[in-house]
Amino acid sequence: MIAEVIVDIAHSEVDKVFDYIADDDISLGFRVEIPFGRFKSEGFVIGLKIKSDIEGSKLKKIIRKLDDFPVLSNEQLLLAKYVKEEYHVPFAAALRQFIPADLRGGRVKEKIISFAVLKNEISPVEMVASLRKSSTAQANAIGYLKEQKKEKLSVLNEKFGYGAIKSLIEKGFIDLSEEKAGRIPYKQLEAFSKEVTLSEEQSNAIDTLLNTDKRVSLLFGVTGSGKTEVYLRLIDYYLRQGKTAIMLVPEIALTPQMLAQLRARFGDNVSILHSGLSAGERYDEWVRLRTGEAKIAIGARSAIFAPLENVGIIIIDEEHDGSYVAETSPRYKTLDVAKKRCEIHNCKLILGSATPSIETYSACLSGKYNLARMNKRINGKNLPDFIVTDMRDELRNGNPSIFSYDLKRELQKCITGGNQAILFLNRRGFSQQVICRDCGYVAKCKNCDVSLNYHKDSNLLKCHYCNSTYKKLSACPECGSINLNYKGTGTQKIVDELNALFPTARILRMDNDTTQNKEGHFKILRSFSLGEADILVGTQMVAKGHDFPSVTLVGILDADMSLYFPDYRCNERTFQLITQVAGRSGRANKKGVVVLQTYNPDNAILKFAMNYDYEGFFKYENAIRKSTLFPPYSVILRVMVESERDEDAISGLKRVYEKLLPLYEKEKESFIFFNKMKSPVKILKNKYRYQVLMRLIADCFDVKHEIYKLALSEKTSKVLVYVEENPGSLN
Ligand code: ADP
Ligand code: ZN
Ligand code: ZN
Repeated sequence: MIAEVIVDIAHSEVDKVFDYIADDDISLGFRVEIPFGRFKSEGFVIGLKIKSDIEGSKLKKIIRKLDDFPVLSNEQLLLAKYVKEEYHVPFAAALRQFIPADLRGGRVKEKIISFAVLKNEISPVEMVASLRKSSTAQANAIGYLKEQKKEKLSVLNEKFGYGAIKSLIEKGFIDLSEEKAGRIPYKQLEAFSKEVTLSEEQSNAIDTLLNTDKRVSLLFGVTGSGKTEVYLRLIDYYLRQGKTAIMLVPEIALTPQMLAQLRARFGDNVSILHSGLSAGERYDEWVRLRTGEAKIAIGARSAIFAPLENVGIIIIDEEHDGSYVAETSPRYKTLDVAKKRCEIHNCKLILGSATPSIETYSACLSGKYNLARMNKRINGKNLPDFIVTDMRDELRNGNPSIFSYDLKRELQKCITGGNQAILFLNRRGFSQQVICRDCGYVAKCKNCDVSLNYHKDSNLLKCHYCNSTYKKLSACPECGSINLNYKGTGTQKIVDELNALFPTARILRMDNDTTQNKEGHFKILRSFSLGEADILVGTQMVAKGHDFPSVTLVGILDADMSLYFPDYRCNERTFQLITQVAGRSGRANKKGVVVLQTYNPDNAILKFAMNYDYEGFFKYENAIRKSTLFPPYSVILRVMVESERDEDAISGLKRVYEKLLPLYEKEKESFIFFNKMKSPVKILKNKYRYQVLMRLIADCFDVKHEIYKLALSEKTSKVLVYVEENPGSLN
């Protein structure tokens, strides 16, 4: 038999199928060791056939199988092929998404533990009697094992000495056995389950989601409407049909409650896939799914590649979240991969959100997606009320603090009442915009109507969309004030001020600094949910999905910040963030409140958010996108050219640009914008960065793929070239 093998080297030169002679025990999806050139390599079997077109004498033989079972199913191979073609990556790079990284090169295996028991046929007394008087350690070990019946070999070695145990084994007094040790992540997580009766809205939603011919559905439910329970019931439904399920969350470490509830409901059927786990844990969880021992995969975006067969349902919670777009190669869009996977398995895709993306909601309105709505909170209470504070007034009234009078008062009330508060700092990436503290003016680009970014290195303001630069402002052009803020406040500074204001309050901080180590988020969230702190201060992470019943106050410190990111999605992001974070308040019995601090109390987006008016927001934003031709009414493509040497990057950019120019000339009506330039962040991770930035009209599928092909053909060993589609940031 002939096996078609993809060599596990993600390089365009070897990105083709190689034929090898295979033994009969090799089937589709196996990883194999093969001779390749002068070396050995690993590869994936992606096809089998009787005859090769290659001359027989030139064919080499597969050396061996690398695993006991095929690591890829037929469906997964189809999906890998889609990823390869859609994102123009080598087949090997696509295939790697489906297996734990450490499986490659044999860096991870099953963990085997040796256990010891006393031999049955001889009595412990006889054993001890046969020992020399001086062998007390051996005698003690026999006594211990008699008590314990069974013990890990490693523990015995540690307790009684390696020599003593070795000689007991040699004497034949101890029998050894080996057992697989499943490494289980998040062991300390208490299974947490509530028996609930479905609300009317929940059961209606479930009906709508199950009884539809449409492949994709949106579960559009306000914060606290009980979406999780709907997901659990749907999963349960498909499990009963003998099917499996994939559940994606924006960041698994941020949603321990989701995991706890899944475990409580489905026990060992649940398997977690995410990058924060140790290599061993990841491998074990993956094996449990691959072998069918576990039937539900939960994880962040990469879990879309989970090794499950017979998938009945895929759920993407918080579908609008930016983390569903991969920022390293392959730069896949989870939603698109999920749609493809559903097509392959002929199964359902459920998107869940309280603030659906413009794209998703458009698709519902046009009838492409099925829509289920839940408009009420489970607790029957209204969504929390907003108190808006105009920060321009605060300064005028002699309060230069980060906290408005309103927020201080509400914090005091909240803590005195024994409740909890979340303070949210709206912060992201490199972005630094200029804001006038007196009138709220924000510096914007004259050509693009997006806010400018301040670049410290060049001391200039730049537009990330058209690359125009502007001189740094010394005074506000609107009101003449010199109170210009060039950088926001950090979380640490907030904690310091809180400590001064409320010396006895217990404060937790959650941001990139405090969540570096493994399970870092998880520990902070757990501590907060156990009531070990009064106030949780954090960035975007505190906004996501949490269900803390005692939180009655949410403070949004700088609501405006995300309004002026140099990004066409900034309105959408701001609306989503404010709605999400506000949704953490008043989820149980007590009514909640939100204090929103802003320099622009009249801003339309903030008003829509405060009134929980998604429809209003959608109409407003959709009209802007349509008239300015931004996605979904166009596609932004950015070809990145990076190199360690500036000259190489510049010549690479020139080559890419010249390659693309004829296409642009020929297909001009497909382009809204086309130009080459430095990237806004000139050097990143020691690489010089340049780009060809393009905006194309929507639905120009062929031109888009042609751009991918032309640009990627200019990749060399010195110059990295890659393409981003509607990138999450244009840094
Ligand atoms: P969402 O994800 O829509 O914001 P959750 O799924 O977190 O909301 O649910 C909010 C709260 O309501 C949770 O504490 C959940 O346990 C509870 N809950 C959900 N459904 C019910 C129900 N049918 N009866 C009682 N409580 C429920
Ligand atoms: Zn001003
Ligand atoms: Zn511009």
